[in-house]
Amino acid sequence: MHRVGYAISCAAVLLLTLVSAPVFAGGPFLVDSLNNSGVALRWQNDTLTWCADEGPLSSGVDNAAAIQMVTEAFNDWTTKVTITNGQNQAVVTTVAKAAQDTTCKPGDIDGSNHEPYTTGFDKPPTIIFDADGSVIEDLMGDGASDGIVGLSYPGAADSSGLIMTKGGFAAFNGKMLTNGKLGSGTTAQEYFKASIHHELGHLLNLDHSQVNYDLAKNCTLGNCANGNYIPTMYPELLDMQQATLTRDDKATISWIYPASVLKDDFCTITGEIFDKNGSPLTGVNVIASSTTSDTQAMVDARAMVSGVLYPECSGDSRYYLYGLKPGVTYKVTYEPIGSEFANASDFEPLGSNSPKGFQGGVVETPSGDTTVKCENGGDTIEMASVAIDTANYCAGKNSGTGTGSGQGTTQTGTSKSKCSLVAGGGAGAGALLELLFVCVASAVLSRSRIRTSSKIPGRK
Ligand SMILES: [Zn+2]
Repeated sequence: MHRVGYAISCAAVLLLTLVSAPVFAGGPFLVDSLNNSGVALRWQNDTLTWCADEGPLSSGVDNAAAIQMVTEAFNDWTTKVTITNGQNQAVVTTVAKAAQDTTCKPGDIDGSNHEPYTTGFDKPPTIIFDADGSVIEDLMGDGASDGIVGLSYPGAADSSGLIMTKGGFAAFNGKMLTNGKLGSGTTAQEYFKASIHHELGHLLNLDHSQVNYDLAKNCTLGNCANGNYIPTMYPELLDMQQATLTRDDKATISWIYPASVLKDDFCTITGEIFDKNGSPLTGVNVIASSTTSDTQAMVDARAMVSGVLYPECSGDSRYYLYGLKPGVTYKVTYEPIGSEFANASDFEPLGSNSPKGFQGGVVETPSGDTTVKCENGGDTIEMASVAIDTANYCAGKNSGTGTGSGQGTTQTGTSKSKCSLVAGGGAGAGALLELLFVCVASAVLSRSRIRTSSKIPGRK
């Protein structure tokens, strides 16, 4: 988690939006850990069919208004996602859909009855309006509702290891609309909307994004120049404009749930990151940004963490940068994940074990060029490999990618990343619950860090 932010504390539980908060970089949260196929989990039929709490969000936001806020945020993540192609046409790049199941009747979910939705995997993905903060308190500990805006995690994979059909929730803490931590009135509600977008992004299986990190790290909540360039999925809530998806957010949702136009009209840049010994180096953030202008460098940028498509230490350190516009010249750079995101707001797949403390740099083309441009939609450009002199957590641990490892059913609570949950697989319900509890424990640690952050308004 983070300062005013959100947190994905482990692969199974994302915590999120705190008052200062949360995590990752332009990639997926859960991947196929059953077959190690390098595929991000998706909701069945590319559709997240959600169930809504029947109670109010807060004293001033009734159930209907709260559902409207959630519906609008889901629209922003699905049918409204467009990226401008090489012909300067805004095209819808994702087939992701979300729809409320109005036939489900969970009643008013609170601290006394939330467990079937927050600790099990047999319910539909559920949106919880935690008007009195009691759900957050029960999950995260006493006092948690004073600083956490939302909490979420995606669903569980089915027996294929690829598709989410059940489980998952997003809980929103109505107390944060009135306790002053996010300001008051409309201001608080706008921040809250940004947090709703962030948490629903996690529910759709997006991880955090570190795009425009140099900009974001100099911001505090409500004091952020150019906050419109900070991704919705940045680990921290910094600006109410995070309720509007950036190019990176759009590229990531489109890549997990792609419309055919994503492949036909846009380009992809890929490559691999190694350490000095030639071993795959997982956990490095790689960014492509336009060189057209300083503004376009912030607007037209997307990132992915090396190796994020596989469980930790699978021997993969490849990145894919999708949704690039033909005819635009990009610079590709690499950087460590911010050290402040360790523990609480860590990024998949290594979390706090991601390589840190090295200098970033430029990724060159195989011919040594420091910029790259694709000519035609559908092109994939392979960059030169990068070797970084830094500690490699996975050195000597890499299991190798491939199929049949069955990792999805053998993960233990000590593995904090990519604990993709396989309902109906060999793990059994008991193992799933154990794993979830470990994740929640991790989230609690994250929370304490967040609550002491000076980024939380009114706190020092
Ligand atoms: Zn988050």
